[in-house]
Amino acid sequence: MRKVQPVTCPFCSLLCNDLRLIFDEGSLAAFSPACSLGEAGFRLAVAGSTYEEPTQVVQETSLRTARTWLREARQPLVLLSGIVDGKAISAAVRLAKRFSAILVCDEDWSGSLLGLSAQKAGLLTDTLRDLRSQALVVLCGVDPARTHPRLGEVLERDLLTDSLRLDPPDPMEAVRWLRVANSGTVECLPAWCAAANARIEAASSGLVVFGLDWLKAGSPFTTELLLWLNDLNREKHWYALYLAPAPNSAGVVETLLSETGFPGNLRFGLGETDFSPRTLRAENVIQQGGADLYILAGQPGTISKKTLSLLSQSRTILFDAERPAWNPPIWLPSSRAGVGGSGRFQRLDGVPIELQPVLPSRRRSMKDLLLELADDGQTL
Ligand code: SF4
Repeated sequence: MRKVQPVTCPFCSLLCNDLRLIFDEGSLAAFSPACSLGEAGFRLAVAGSTYEEPTQVVQETSLRTARTWLREARQPLVLLSGIVDGKAISAAVRLAKRFSAILVCDEDWSGSLLGLSAQKAGLLTDTLRDLRSQALVVLCGVDPARTHPRLGEVLERDLLTDSLRLDPPDPMEAVRWLRVANSGTVECLPAWCAAANARIEAASSGLVVFGLDWLKAGSPFTTELLLWLNDLNREKHWYALYLAPAPNSAGVVETLLSETGFPGNLRFGLGETDFSPRTLRAENVIQQGGADLYILAGQPGTISKKTLSLLSQSRTILFDAERPAWNPPIWLPSSRAGVGGSGRFQRLDGVPIELQPVLPSRRRSMKDLLLELADDGQTL
């Protein structure tokens, strides 16, 4: 029997809510409108629901071991990935506070923070669909066809042919040239910059889209980028959009800010919170052995192979919907928001989106598993 299921897609931060999954005798027969990334995600989820799960006994044993490790830990670390939903983030914060843990995000949070800064600075005051009428779209080191396949459709333009692509080897130098060009104080610009600036100057309005790769240079670069965007916005209306690498990257940072006052990179202590954006980064802490228990809420998306190898040799507990391709000592399968469970994500333009379960799942939510670990530990 054919069944049409309307869904909101949780596989990138566009969170498209106009999808239909067509099931035929329980298998996924069609996916519409077309999106390679979304279809692959749902097909994997449908296939995954038929895999053999760790038995209930194995899961209860793993949870008992996890509680013991948490009780014995001198310095736990909680690592949040960008696929974690709002309720699971709150549960992770509660666990981290109760056990004086270090709390970090797996990707550099500066992108999401910059995205929020752009919103607060008026560079993104409208929602996605209101960005359609911009005269020019500038893609800065991002390839939406790969990471956000339907962005062009949302903006009603073919981004492959109808956009300005900036992909210089050194983004810091590029933004400095663009700022100089925008001020009109230098005549000898590099050819690429002169051509790009001519198109930017001619446009009556525009949208600058940037991603994580342009932000790897750190905070001096993000300051330059914000200054350039503000310069552009001074005389004409320009917007800025951060293409986060994970579907809820912005939601993770926003929730952390509202619950702790910080965007991650913090250590809870007795009565005080230490915020250290440079030293308390996930890779730093793990590679320097700065914790003796690692609790991963969601599969980390940007952690290096070297760090994963260290995690597989340490006391590490992974909560995630997918069976990991590496070997964490404990994997506790959870439902995935928008597939087998519900949850709240934040779309890349800041709009909160509620996700509903699409496939049947007997798994517990990540929030419930994290709370069980946190609360049990306190009572022991
Ligand atoms: S663009 Fe993103 S949210 Fe939309 S269907 Fe594709 S993967 Fe899903």
